[in-house]
Amino acid sequence: MQVVTEKKQIQDMCRKWRTSGESICFVPTMGCLHEGHLSLIKKAQSCANRVVVSIFVNPLQFGDMNDFANYPNTFDDDVRKLAEIGVDCVFSPEVNSLYPEGEAEVEQVEIGGITSILEGKERPGHFAGVATVVKRLFDLIAPNSAIFGKKDFQQLMVIRKLIGVFSMNIEIIGMPTLRESDGLAMSSRNVRLSEKQRVKAPEIYHQLESIKAALNEGATNYNELETEACDKLSLAGFVPDYVVIRESTSLLPPKSPNDSIIILAAAKLGDIRLIDNLEV
Ligand code: AMP
Repeated sequence: MQVVTEKKQIQDMCRKWRTSGESICFVPTMGCLHEGHLSLIKKAQSCANRVVVSIFVNPLQFGDMNDFANYPNTFDDDVRKLAEIGVDCVFSPEVNSLYPEGEAEVEQVEIGGITSILEGKERPGHFAGVATVVKRLFDLIAPNSAIFGKKDFQQLMVIRKLIGVFSMNIEIIGMPTLRESDGLAMSSRNVRLSEKQRVKAPEIYHQLESIKAALNEGATNYNELETEACDKLSLAGFVPDYVVIRESTSLLPPKSPNDSIIILAAAKLGDIRLIDNLEV
């Protein structure tokens, strides 16, 4: 497995693979890899001849610089895991290599619409930062396909829109959320939870599940269900940003009970912000 930090190196390597007829699947990550990431990578290995994984903590997508500074870094462990499962290449550029003009000068990729609600509203600029980094990585690697987790459901929708806006010929594959045995969605940020917080954390998933059960029994009192779940999270010690029931292709409030539905939640435990969602 090659560990590459220079843009020219990754471009040359991927170009060589493409010209020799090999397909490339790309999995972008911010490192601190867990089983959720590895499930994406295993899928990538079944989709293409070559798998590239990026490890890059993208400053542009962090509104809260404290969160950026505290983002866990387990690079050596990550590289070991990736070598073990047989990834072809890890790309981990320096910030000033991916953004040579300087972070403040970067002309960010704005794709409107879905980027301004929910996560986009709570974290202004977040999805512009995501779209900007993913566009630059796609341009360098030019993969045939790329894999994203449904854990970040809205992000997956932003990436699909990005592909459409720039007419990029890349297949985007969404993969299910991997969870701990108590239901907590795996996340790099979970390592920052204290023992007490870790015990509470699955409550987000429990609230999603209880809304799902109510919807499956025919409930249509969406606002009440959302408020009740927020109240329960607050009682459990969270500071909820939102718990919402949405139509799953627009992420807008459902118009009809026949709409396909997704429940999305974001809440803080101490200074750690957790997100999760559940398709109904
Ligand atoms: P991150 O390193 O958090 O930027 O995540 C990299 C990719 O892994 C994104 O596409 C995430 O949606 C995905 N991912 C994160 N957590 C999980 C999980 N628990 N299950 C499946 N995919 C995940």
